[in-house]
Amino acid sequence: MLSSLKDVVKKIARSSSVDKKLVEEIVRDVQRALIKADVNVRQVKEISDAIKKRALSEEVLSGLNPREHIIKIVYEEILRGVGEGFDIPLKKSKIMLVGLQGSGKTTTAAKIAKYFKDKGMKAAVIAGDTHRPAAYEQLKQLAEQAGLGFFGKKEEKDAVKIVKEGLEALKDYDVIVIDTAGRHALEEELIEEMKRIAEVSKPDYKFLVLDASIGQLASKQAEAFNEAVGIDAIVITKFDGTAKGGGALSAARLIGIPIAFIGTGEKIEDFEKFDPAGFVSRLLGMGDIKALLEKVERIVKEEELDPEAFLKGKFTLKDVYKQLEAMNKMGPISKIFEMLPFGFSLKVDDEALEMTQEKMKKFKVIMDSMTEEELLNPKIIDSSRIRRIAIGSGTTPQDVKELLNYYNTMKNLMKRLKKGKLPIKGLKLGL
Ligand code: GDP
Repeated sequence: MLSSLKDVVKKIARSSSVDKKLVEEIVRDVQRALIKADVNVRQVKEISDAIKKRALSEEVLSGLNPREHIIKIVYEEILRGVGEGFDIPLKKSKIMLVGLQGSGKTTTAAKIAKYFKDKGMKAAVIAGDTHRPAAYEQLKQLAEQAGLGFFGKKEEKDAVKIVKEGLEALKDYDVIVIDTAGRHALEEELIEEMKRIAEVSKPDYKFLVLDASIGQLASKQAEAFNEAVGIDAIVITKFDGTAKGGGALSAARLIGIPIAFIGTGEKIEDFEKFDPAGFVSRLLGMGDIKALLEKVERIVKEEELDPEAFLKGKFTLKDVYKQLEAMNKMGPISKIFEMLPFGFSLKVDDEALEMTQEKMKKFKVIMDSMTEEELLNPKIIDSSRIRRIAIGSGTTPQDVKELLNYYNTMKNLMKRLKKGKLPIKGLKLGL
């Protein structure tokens, strides 16, 4: 999965021109790479269809070249297909692990505790797996090696009792990770034990530990465990040893359970918090993508979020549209003005400038019903056009007039700003 997706990006970056043929080739390459990584066929189709559609229809963001544009689309669509990450706040918590035998639970218990220890928290593990005889020694050793607190009872068979005592003995610790027994299948006995341990420990989080090599089967297992005891997030282990990692990742997306961590080797430090954006960036070749995304961010900031951009050039309804988009991200227009470099603040008393989410939506729908000519030159919008636009957008002529009134108010304001007549606090717009 790793090398083939990187190759796709390389192919795009090296191409002399971006045309339909290249897009089709890229889409096929992405498909092949995802199928090889065991991603569900339906998801592969969704991802590749979306890449194709966007690559052939979306306008290239100005400032990006067509190659960068395609890479951005590939990145975004693959990211969409990967399960979400799971943020655990750094505070006192109990984490209970569940999963089948051999999935990597015991190793993961130590890895998670170490993760928190590395963040400066007091972390410990409880050896609650009384089913697999070697689990106790294994966890004890790992805990010693990593400097973690440990509680276990070698001869005790009652896991519930161990967990209860462990929580008492380790109550000074910030984070306690509870290892539990697995079986070869999710059977009644295992479900009973998991439930009882959850009852006495009242964990803040229950993580399911899944072996990446099971690929797409991950979704079935996760669903079954979720139904039996309720799962907050998944830890995918043995990511290093399989070509099927994509299957487990996309399975998580499919069932909507986030991924907290991934295990990338047998050693305790072979472990990372799952960060979808970083992960996909790496799949595609980190350097290129990171630089590209930074560039995109800059452009978006400059184009949409820079209030000064509103002052440049002729002010049309297209700019109003952009402003509304920006407001979605930045808040009301008065806030945008506060960000202007010459640092004045504008208190907008004018009703015309008051903007609610509903109004914003309505204005956008109205603008979607306008012709290009009307958007660029709103002056031509007379009463018969107003009627047509209202019908086309399912609104009333009054609504269309309200939008035009908003536009005129903004335009006037822009004019004043451009002339250097900066509005002062408390300005009333004399319209
Ligand atoms: P448990 O039965 O669920 O407690 O599983 P263990 O923690 O004993 O792990 C089973 C095997 O998988 C052990 O040999 C571990 O060293 C190995 N293992 C666990 N996590 C990883 C991982 O992320 N990568 C690799 N390569 N091996 C792992």
